[in-house]
Amino acid sequence: MLLSDWPNAVAHVDADCFFAACEIARRPELRARPVCVMSSQDACIVAKTYDAKAAGIYTGMPVWEAKRLLPRAVYIPADFGYYGQMSDKLFAILARFSPEVEVYSIDEGFIGMNGIRSLWRKSYAEIADTIRAAVKSEAGITVSVGVSVTKTLAKIASDVHKPDGTTLVAGREILPFLGGIKVRSIPGIGANREALLNKFKIFTAADYAQADSALIRRLLGKAGTDLWHELRGTPLFSLELAPKLPKSVARTASLGQVTQDRNLIAAHLSHHTTRMATELATKRYLAQRLTVFLTLKSFASRAVETRFDDPTANVFTFSRAVRETFAQLYSPGEFYRGCGVIATEIRPAAERSLDLFGEVFDDDRKEKLMETVDALNKKYGNHTVSMLAAMSAMKKKTRSRFRLPMFEAE
Ligand SMILES: [Mg+2]
Repeated sequence: MLLSDWPNAVAHVDADCFFAACEIARRPELRARPVCVMSSQDACIVAKTYDAKAAGIYTGMPVWEAKRLLPRAVYIPADFGYYGQMSDKLFAILARFSPEVEVYSIDEGFIGMNGIRSLWRKSYAEIADTIRAAVKSEAGITVSVGVSVTKTLAKIASDVHKPDGTTLVAGREILPFLGGIKVRSIPGIGANREALLNKFKIFTAADYAQADSALIRRLLGKAGTDLWHELRGTPLFSLELAPKLPKSVARTASLGQVTQDRNLIAAHLSHHTTRMATELATKRYLAQRLTVFLTLKSFASRAVETRFDDPTANVFTFSRAVRETFAQLYSPGEFYRGCGVIATEIRPAAERSLDLFGEVFDDDRKEKLMETVDALNKKYGNHTVSMLAAMSAMKKKTRSRFRLPMFEAE
């Protein structure tokens, strides 16, 4: 355990009820009522205010059920384009406080705090309070801040005085602090790991940090011992300041048979395209180049590349390109065993310069749609919502728990 207070300092900033707070920020008259944000086609709840949560509404709850439980709440369709703008605003504020800011998710970031006290002539607690005040007055939403010696401790701390609170955990305070934290609240410990740890009498994060490292290694492997070090105040996770972009985002698979069936292959490609576009949209990536390939019975493959004028994450743009290249690739005399789509020249969506004469608004709407589709699929299982053209490929493989509206491409 650490015997000094601040050998290293990192802050975790987490917006409170982010999507719902964004809605209240632009419609302050909502402040007096519980607010629930709905997914596309009003299917389920994707975010809610604390009072709605207290009434029993949870993320993923079907909207009709939420409305029955809490009819006086305001139900608002999600607007991910706007939430992205609010996120940019939040991170622009954080960047004023330190040159080291990691964008961890749309509403969470880490800030490197070393050396910041002398720069601002303030204590860590005062800096955290200043950050909260700046976000509140400039973005109109609240954040909670945790400051500690490792990322893991800072993230646990930011959750303790939510909403709109500051929590400091100095090196010498780690153990008493962790005594009040259940292992389930450690980032990376889910229900299964919690049950396993409980069997070995590890109930709190303090039990975890004081457990024999060999036992933790045996139970949870290297990831578990990394957490063990982080909880004891030794930073293993450094800030990721430049988001690492993947070289490619690909979706490929065998057709499950050797076939000449043009419609079957087209359906598989459509399914792959939807999934690839969804991954790009939710990670806020754009791709400039798309490769479509078919694998022949002989395992040779044929590929055609498309390079877009502007980088995109738009499923409709991809689908059109895939249809056109597939028409070039497919030859009725051949037998095929696999197919796939590969997006390359990946860049972050935030860097996109708006083309004033392009389909900007249209694109935003479609991106929003894809993000919502992904949220639904995460909640209810893959293929709950998908492109209509991909249906024939999926019919045999999966069953949906809920029958939700399909949407059709063009
Ligand atoms: Mg949050």
